Amino acid sequence: MPELPEVETVRRGLEPVMQGARFETVEARRRDLRWPLPPDFAARLEGQTVTGLGRRAKYLTVDLSSGEVLLMHLGMSGSFRVSHDGGERKPGNYHHERPQHGAHDHVVFHMSNGAQIAFNDPRRFGSMKLVRREKLDEEPLLRALGPEPLGNEFDAVLLARACQGKKTSLKAALSDQRVVAGLGNIYVCEALWRARLSPKRRASTIATRTGEPNDRARALVEAIRDVLKDAIAAGGSSLRDHKRTDGELGLFQHHFAVYDREGERCPRPRCGGTIKRIVQTGRSTFFCPVCQR
Ligand SMILES: [Zn+2]
Repeated sequence: MPELPEVETVRRGLEPVMQGARFETVEARRRDLRWPLPPDFAARLEGQTVTGLGRRAKYLTVDLSSGEVLLMHLGMSGSFRVSHDGGERKPGNYHHERPQHGAHDHVVFHMSNGAQIAFNDPRRFGSMKLVRREKLDEEPLLRALGPEPLGNEFDAVLLARACQGKKTSLKAALSDQRVVAGLGNIYVCEALWRARLSPKRRASTIATRTGEPNDRARALVEAIRDVLKDAIAAGGSSLRDHKRTDGELGLFQHHFAVYDREGERCPRPRCGGTIKRIVQTGRSTFFCPVCQR
């Protein structure tokens, strides 16, 4: 499942070919992805100019001149392939490489600038939806989402309040999209390592009894922001590096401190701990039992 930094690098990769361009023709080769495509999907896109390309958690939002927004989610296996000026590339930077077979190109956008953008999704958990811009806040897919971790709204006060009295683990709380939007297994593990906090710690321990943030909450917010920014920067650089090749993008798993590193030495200088893997709410958690308390 792509996480927020991957979706953000996809957004940045699509922006130069979509922003300001018009959908000339849209090929919907199936009637459904995870859900049925909207009625008159192609007709509602064709002729519309893209006035903005944004992101909310793991959703891409494409603003159209018609006042509608194309809301797209990559699901488990979705990716885009851009063909433009004779070159081809796959925007995004995935932890697990995405093989693309033409048979799984379910939707293809032909843009007025000559770019062809194919949405490839073998497992079809991705989705595309059209929503009126003014109704976006009421959209059920987005309504329940917590604050954007890189947004101005997200801070220690907000995070502490969301964790106040919570008996679940910190790992489970941070994975809850209502607490903070867009964080998945990888970046929750990485952020907790950076903040030196154990994933097993009770979520409520980052707040005082009255819900005020303590130093742990402040360290955690900083760690979440830093780890996401670093991952986006790494994605951006690999996009640049690989633009001229066949579209294969480098993985940034070697940048991970703990994720998928069971049995390895903790990378924190002078820690000496060994990365451990445990299972929490059905997912693997990686952490260092020495420096994460
Ligand atoms: Zn350590």
